[in-house]
Amino acid sequence: MKSVIFIAPPAAGKGTQSSRLESLGYLHISTGDMLREEISKKSELGLEIENIIAKGELVSDDIVLKLVQNKLENIDKPFILDGFPRTYNQVLLLDELLNKLNLLDYEVIYLDIPLDEALKRALGRLTCSCGASFHKYIPSQMPKVEGICDKCGKELISRDDDNEEAFKVRFATFLNNIEPIKEFYQKNNKLHNVDATLDSDKITEEIKDILK
Ligand code: AMP
Repeated sequence: MKSVIFIAPPAAGKGTQSSRLESLGYLHISTGDMLREEISKKSELGLEIENIIAKGELVSDDIVLKLVQNKLENIDKPFILDGFPRTYNQVLLLDELLNKLNLLDYEVIYLDIPLDEALKRALGRLTCSCGASFHKYIPSQMPKVEGICDKCGKELISRDDDNEEAFKVRFATFLNNIEPIKEFYQKNNKLHNVDATLDSDKITEEIKDILK
């Protein structure tokens, strides 16, 4: 199985697809999850990060690179990168790191979704600290018991940055940064486009085919 780097706008489903692949033996590396974990520690760094994330802006490259580097340095299985890289500079930093660690057997998957669909998903999104994700209004994705995770029984939460204002900043930031990122991976013959508005089982099948 090849490793995978997801590049996608917010709420395109990278978290959902990542947790499905995880069960096949992948290590899921989500910079958003690692940053939220740092916030939950209420450290000085956590407070600084919390303000940035709440506004929908990007955390500095050196903070996220360090988190990713720690995970990749001693890896013994294929990885899923979810949420990194998000800028062209992060692409270059990651490329250097993957070359250094000789982790070059990967593909890049672009999950494509229009703003209105992503916004609709984000505004009803419910997440669990175990990584599972549900939706308040989409019947096929509602939890069996309101507000409770089907998988582990913990309480579900709405992310602070899933409000309309922060979401639009996140989406615009994504669009501002994405072209040189796609160009880089296209040139390296790594880039695959997947329609993220399809049924999520169909998306998983397409992804598995790409990673065979
Ligand atoms: P996510 O869970 O991937 O939607 O990320 C949530 C938030 O964490 C983003 O809106 C950013 O503020 C921050 N973040 C996550 N990954 C990165 C990254 N690679 N570079 C900078 N900020 C990031």
